Amino acid sequence: MKGFGKYWGYIALILLLTAWWTTKIGPGVLIVLSVAVTLYFLFQAPIWCGAITRDETLCRRNASGLLLGCSYRQHKWQKLKMAVVPPMWRRLNQGLWTSPATGLATIGTILGLVSGFAGLVKSMLE
Ligand SMILES: [Zn+2]
Repeated sequence: MKGFGKYWGYIALILLLTAWWTTKIGPGVLIVLSVAVTLYFLFQAPIWCGAITRDETLCRRNASGLLLGCSYRQHKWQKLKMAVVPPMWRRLNQGLWTSPATGLATIGTILGLVSGFAGLVKSMLE
């Protein structure tokens, strides 16, 4: 169960995508699932840290989520800083595609955000 628990967000993402194809599912469910998926990929998904180390390579230590770095406190700060300072977004973007898992987490976050927004619009239209 431990291994499975780490990856629940991927299952939630598949559920979310399936939910969009099923017209019977209300926007409330879509919004809740979208928020869960977004938070999972930002703060919990097991991926590489992706912070830039002193020798200009990307850190490959294990981290939780796109927003949090590995256990180095400096990397955590660097990632948070990259997320809020626009000139650093290009470097942040580099770190978002360091491995297939990281790329998938990035896509998952974007899908979660778009789907959450679309769910909100949908709920207003209905
Ligand atoms: Zn790191």
